[in-house]
Amino acid sequence: MITNIRLPFGLHQDRGLVHVDEVSGGKKCRCVCPSCFAPLIAAKGNLKQHHFKHAVNTSCENGLESAVHLAAKKIIKEKNSLTLPEYILQVSLKDNRGIEHYENEIIVKKGSVISFDNIIEEKLIQNIKVDLLARINNKYLAVEIFYRHKVDDEKSNKIKDIGLSAIEINLSQLKVNDIKNWDSFWLYINNPENIAWLHNVKADIEKDKLKQRLDVKIKEVEKRYIEEDKIFKMKQEKEKKILKKSIAKIEQLSSLESINKIKKLGVSHQAWINAKKYIPFSWDDIPCFLNVNTPNCDWIYGCDRRVWQVSVYSYFILKLGVGALFTTKNVDKWLQNTVGCKVPSEIKSVFTYKNKYPQLIPNRIGESITSSWKTLNIFFRCLCDYGILRYLGPDDSKSGSYLYEVISIKTQKE
Ligand SMILES: [Zn+2]
Repeated sequence: MITNIRLPFGLHQDRGLVHVDEVSGGKKCRCVCPSCFAPLIAAKGNLKQHHFKHAVNTSCENGLESAVHLAAKKIIKEKNSLTLPEYILQVSLKDNRGIEHYENEIIVKKGSVISFDNIIEEKLIQNIKVDLLARINNKYLAVEIFYRHKVDDEKSNKIKDIGLSAIEINLSQLKVNDIKNWDSFWLYINNPENIAWLHNVKADIEKDKLKQRLDVKIKEVEKRYIEEDKIFKMKQEKEKKILKKSIAKIEQLSSLESINKIKKLGVSHQAWINAKKYIPFSWDDIPCFLNVNTPNCDWIYGCDRRVWQVSVYSYFILKLGVGALFTTKNVDKWLQNTVGCKVPSEIKSVFTYKNKYPQLIPNRIGESITSSWKTLNIFFRCLCDYGILRYLGPDDSKSGSYLYEVISIKTQKE
């Protein structure tokens, strides 16, 4: 962690702390080590960064640390100002749905420069010794210098407890170039990126206000949740009502009584009247491949199964002829829109909501509920078995729809 810088500052016999470049080289520098006070030699060769070294080899370990500390304090006092790091206060709180909300406030603006009314070293304040204590407009700011020893949690907590604003200047990553002279050293110290807030009294006060603001905001949000829930429940009730009504309608349409009625009307159905002109069979003579019993076949198109099957046969097979291609989707659309064999709208409602409210689907209709496409596909597979159609696979444009080709035409009852 500690970079291999060499001692850049020494204690001059007359002038106090000096940078190595301010003194003569060698033993004539008249400096001692700021830690052990042994004489220093100013090494000012051409190859290495200029530095001090102990004149006699010693086991002094703290010379560099003391020098950096002393130098930092000296220059901060001299400049009598500092550029502070930004302080953004953020508080967060969860609402009753567990969603976190935030409020932010800038306590110290980026690039804020403060000038001190007064600054003293090594000040003891309520049993805490701080490196520097600055006064600005009757407010205090402690400045801690971190080279080898960071302010620990204990001290940090004490600073908070006594309500003192404090910053820590991190010099632990100093490089050779940062200490080549006083100017470069100041540039490093006065760079907010190298300074961290330990505590900020204003933020402490603002925090409660921010929490109150957030509280109000969350209460609003929770009020909105109640409204949303109400609307959601209303929507659900409405959907359930539609579903129940649709199920009742389908049950009625698919009842034996209703199917018998439809069957009786088969021969007089307009679709049969239109189609019979083109097919060589009479109503009583309809072949079994046009009387295919598929699920829901006698009510889903609102007519006897023979009516819609004959209609499909007359147009898509007899009229379009061998080689014609069609899809389930095409046929269904044609039956409903051109022939008028409408699928009850309730089918769509049941399909829309059946997975959302499965508890509302009675067992007896749960299994058999189908779509007109399914009914058609079973009919077409049957025609494939009769050798009239060939199955060509899924219709790429719509899932549930398939492609078929007419391969032969039967005009005889078999
Ligand atoms: Zn020393």
